[in-house]
Amino acid sequence: MDVKKLLADVEAKNPGQPLYLQAVTEVLETLEEVVKANPKYTKYKVIERLLEPDRIIQFRVEWVDDKGEVQVNRAWRVQYNNAIGPYKGGMRFHPSVTADSLKFLAFEQTFKNSLTTLPMGGGKGGSDFNPQGKSEQEMMRFCHSLMTELYRYLGVDTDVPAGDIGVGAREVGFMYGMFKKIMIENTAAFTGKGRNWGGSILRPEATGFGGVYFVDSMLKQAGKDIKGKTVAVSGFGNVAWGAAIKATELGAKVICISGPDGYILDEEGIAGEKIAYMNELLQTRNNVVAPYADKYKSAKFFAGKKPWEAKVDIALPCAIQNELNIDDAKQLIKNGCICVGELSNMGCTADAIHELQKARVIYAPGKAANAGGVSVSGLEMTQNAMHLGWTAEEVDAKLKQIMKDIHASCVKYGLEKDGYVNYVKGANVAGFIKVADAMIELGVV
Ligand code: GLU
Repeated sequence: MDVKKLLADVEAKNPGQPLYLQAVTEVLETLEEVVKANPKYTKYKVIERLLEPDRIIQFRVEWVDDKGEVQVNRAWRVQYNNAIGPYKGGMRFHPSVTADSLKFLAFEQTFKNSLTTLPMGGGKGGSDFNPQGKSEQEMMRFCHSLMTELYRYLGVDTDVPAGDIGVGAREVGFMYGMFKKIMIENTAAFTGKGRNWGGSILRPEATGFGGVYFVDSMLKQAGKDIKGKTVAVSGFGNVAWGAAIKATELGAKVICISGPDGYILDEEGIAGEKIAYMNELLQTRNNVVAPYADKYKSAKFFAGKKPWEAKVDIALPCAIQNELNIDDAKQLIKNGCICVGELSNMGCTADAIHELQKARVIYAPGKAANAGGVSVSGLEMTQNAMHLGWTAEEVDAKLKQIMKDIHASCVKYGLEKDGYVNYVKGANVAGFIKVADAMIELGVV
């Protein structure tokens, strides 16, 4: 496999798509060995086929704001690969959303979903719509309008979206509500649903919980313990909130949380009532974490700064792609950080990952560490298909097992001679093999 040539082709065929190129580069760099050892992947051109999404749907979303002005947004659904199951992946509403960002996310999702052990293909969608400052009515009109186009491409066995940045249970409700009305059916064609209408218990916490289970496994693998470790969490959403709860539960001390306005350092630890207050701040949708420092005197607020400058043992990026760069990585290493668990998708830049790995910091890529969210989505689909609901204990136990299995797969393919685990390689190889073998078995179609 000629990685250089493949990447040159990807670059030429996808001009102006640096995020897609970044995600593809990271994967291809780790697949050389497995492709060389298995000539079938070359014979059936699996890599070349995987570098083209099945299809990308782009459409216009028009809606009327509260002032009566007509607004126009752009939306997409990238149906990347359905070799192992229906397309599955969230919808992201954020001004940074482009065809490029959704293509990289759908590519990543394909490998992530394969790792979960559940039968889900890879997809992703979203819009450049900015939820910030929108009223509930505006949000509803936007979601309804979007769904009057998107519904055609969805279905329990076709494509099952969920939430992501800017899309929580409320937005899923508005989108799914319109889907249900048009289709005259109430099926599992969406996950992240409300508890009253088929949603899984623990879905809001799942990505954060799963991420911390994964970090716990990584530390154990390295002969270390999560108990007593200090943690910094970025991102102002469910993922960070879930991670803070679980990290605290397992005995770690969360000392940093952050929002788009800056970060909070609370050396006394952010636990119990303080995590509940963090969630209160999230629910206001004002995107500010600063009021935390007004309420708790033990806390300091650093305006416009990222939490990676703080001295912590564990860093959990939970916000957006490339939120942790090489300078942040160097600062974390200098401060003695031992573990970075990426709970955002592609949260670290490529050079930051290389820096962390070079310093033997335990590092897990998002496609492994944040797979808990989509895993519980998969469990939600199972419950809906069975017309049953599981208890929190049942869902949590299944999530824990899935994260353990993902960890074991990463170790199987990523363990190096000195005992360090290259989780990037492990996740990519394990995720790839299942999809690639399925594509070969399904023939060239
Ligand atoms: N958006 C989440 C992710 O990046 C969850 C997707 C889902 O539940 O389908 O994996």
